Amino acid sequence: MKAFVNRELCIGCGLCVATCPSVFELDDESLSRTITTDVPKELEQSCNEAAENCPVDAIIVE
Ligand code: SF4
Repeated sequence: MKAFVNRELCIGCGLCVATCPSVFELDDESLSRTITTDVPKELEQSCNEAAENCPVDAIIVE
C-alpha cells in the first residue's frame, strides 16, 4: 500500500501524525508529509484510519 499527502489541502491539524506516527510527520511548515510512501503491512490499518479521519481528505492511499 502507498500513502500520499496532498499538501495543498492539509491544514496541519496533526491528526494523522497522532494516528500513524510511523508514516506521517509534520514538517517545518507544520504540514503533514509521509516519512515513507510504501506503507508496511502492519501499519496499513492505522494508515487507513488516518486517511478516513483527515478532516480535509488530504491523505490518499492506494
Ligand atoms: S490529518 Fe489531514 S489535515 Fe491533519 S495534518 Fe494530517 S493530512 Fe493534514
